[in-house]
Amino acid sequence: MKLLNYLFPKQCISCSSFGEYLCKVCEYRYLERTPAQLCHVCKMETAGGFVHKACKRKTTLDGVVVCCKYNKTVEHLIAELKYNFYTDIVNYLAEYYEAGFLLLPGDKAGTSLVPVPLHKRKLKSRGFNQAELIAKKLISKLRVSNEIDCQNLLVRIRNTKTQVGMSRKERIENLEDVFRINPKEKIPERVVLIDDVMTTGTTLEECAYVLKNAGTKKIYALVFARG
Ligand SMILES: [Zn+2]
Ligand SMILES: [Zn+2]
Repeated sequence: MKLLNYLFPKQCISCSSFGEYLCKVCEYRYLERTPAQLCHVCKMETAGGFVHKACKRKTTLDGVVVCCKYNKTVEHLIAELKYNFYTDIVNYLAEYYEAGFLLLPGDKAGTSLVPVPLHKRKLKSRGFNQAELIAKKLISKLRVSNEIDCQNLLVRIRNTKTQVGMSRKERIENLEDVFRINPKEKIPERVVLIDDVMTTGTTLEECAYVLKNAGTKKIYALVFARG
């Protein structure tokens, strides 16, 4: 590892200074915690990422907590994690996920963290699912970690086209039958879906839909940022 660091020294993705993938100065400057949680449906303020009662009929998720404001540095950080395999980046993210997790309503014990799955082929070529790495790191940070587990409860059964530029209807059709329940796992009552960046939210909705059908009572999502 030391040799690797010597040959390929870590460099800040933002200011290019050597030593870390995100230096303290850039972390302070660009990673800004979300000041208030918004209802993921109407985007108006709400306590702890809850969905408003009136917005409930438009979503399967009981709430979404967003850790940080979205910006170029966040976009860059997630891209480095996914495409350049700088898995150390999970360490920067985990602290923010932890703060976000603690905002979720209700008793945290008995919660299952469920990473949004990648398709088998993508998992094979990337070698890891970044959402799973995040979920595992998050558990290791939590004080109630022995009562929270990470389950690969969902399987992505087909790859989807990129959703950019699609209408809402097209996005829903594009994601239909994309996820299945992993038959090896038992269905928990309370799930927190873990993903990196939420864009339209259709993927999370589809995951929530499959889980609710299988019997999960409460489903929240925890994401780093909303793009
Ligand atoms: Zn920097
Ligand atoms: Zn709302």
